[in-house]
Amino acid sequence: MSSKNWRTATRLLHDAPNRTEFGETSEAIFLTSGFVYDSAEQAAATFTGDVEHFQYSRFGNPTVDTLQERLALLEGADACIATSTGMGAVSSALLAHVKTGERVVASRAIFGSCYWIVTSLLPRYGIETELVDGDDYAAWEKALSRPTAAVLIESPSNPMLDVLDIRRIADLAHKAGALLMVDNVFASPLGQHPLKLGADVVLYSCTKHIDGQGRVLGGAVLGSETWIKETLQPFTRNTGNALSPFNAWILLKGLETLQLRTKAMAANAATVADALAALPGVVQVRYPGRADHPQAEIARQQMNDGGSLVAFEVENGQAGAFACLNAFDLVAISNNLGDARTLATHPATTTHMRVSAEERAKLGITAGVIRLSVGLEDAADLIADLTRGVEAARQA
Ligand SMILES: *Cc1c(COP(=O)(O)O)cnc(C)c1O
Repeated sequence: MSSKNWRTATRLLHDAPNRTEFGETSEAIFLTSGFVYDSAEQAAATFTGDVEHFQYSRFGNPTVDTLQERLALLEGADACIATSTGMGAVSSALLAHVKTGERVVASRAIFGSCYWIVTSLLPRYGIETELVDGDDYAAWEKALSRPTAAVLIESPSNPMLDVLDIRRIADLAHKAGALLMVDNVFASPLGQHPLKLGADVVLYSCTKHIDGQGRVLGGAVLGSETWIKETLQPFTRNTGNALSPFNAWILLKGLETLQLRTKAMAANAATVADALAALPGVVQVRYPGRADHPQAEIARQQMNDGGSLVAFEVENGQAGAFACLNAFDLVAISNNLGDARTLATHPATTTHMRVSAEERAKLGITAGVIRLSVGLEDAADLIADLTRGVEAARQA
């Protein structure tokens, strides 16, 4: 389907073509729940698998298929299943793969709902779970010295942008018999290639950079043909974790400009991170593309750029952070990320408010931390707004 020689920018537009007899330029949206058969024989043969024919959009849909195929080719994965949301991707991947009595190990710094699945949901089904500090490799070795079914990590992590050594964790996971699942949302499909670093499954919230324009929710799971078809697909098909064809079409439109957007956003984020670091009143800046990031060397080796997220801490704790957010004129207060518009959130009182104070302290989420998702505005306008915010924090 794809010319192997095409570069990424071309593939984002042209991989997995699905043009109908009408010759439309853009992909068609197949907004249909079901499909009809020419004969009873054809219907029967479809169900036995002797004939390839769409059956029902919970099982498969031409627009969703195009998205899945294009994402798989982009990631270098055998297969992809698109899901209703990013959490649909994470929950289905874990629940389809693990059984009662088995064990899951995850890095401590993971997205709030992923944290809930690992610490609250899986134990309810008799699955043992353990959290490990991402950069403590002695702890990884210890946790993975016992047979384990799955390892879930996020790198860079939310919200403090810790960078985990994916290859090193993949080796330890494989020795324990586990599949390594990487939530690659913060890096985006263009910023980091976990499969090349030894991961087995890659998870996306397509809501973030892939749509990246604040319109739809969506998710994707990518992995080997066998695992996707035999383990994940029966689960998603029968539990109903399906992406709407309309949302799939929006995400295909998002892919067309993904490289342009992520490159411009990462360049803006790098400029903004440096400007923040130079502002009086900024206690710390975390950006994987900066030399002062605690895992700068790993970031340089496994990421193509520093990404579009920056975490920074202002003076005066929560009062300072709130004053900063409230002083913004351009930057919007929102817990979404990867958007064309720059968005800022206060993790301690929003995304991580359900996490205990003790756990927040372990994650480095102090009361003065703000997570910034840098968008496509002119960097100078962003820096002016951030300077106003940081000044307000100092006065708080
Ligand atoms: C947003 C996000 C998710 C969940 O995605 P939804 O589309 O909101 O369900 C999972 N992991 C990370 C890192 C995210 O940023």
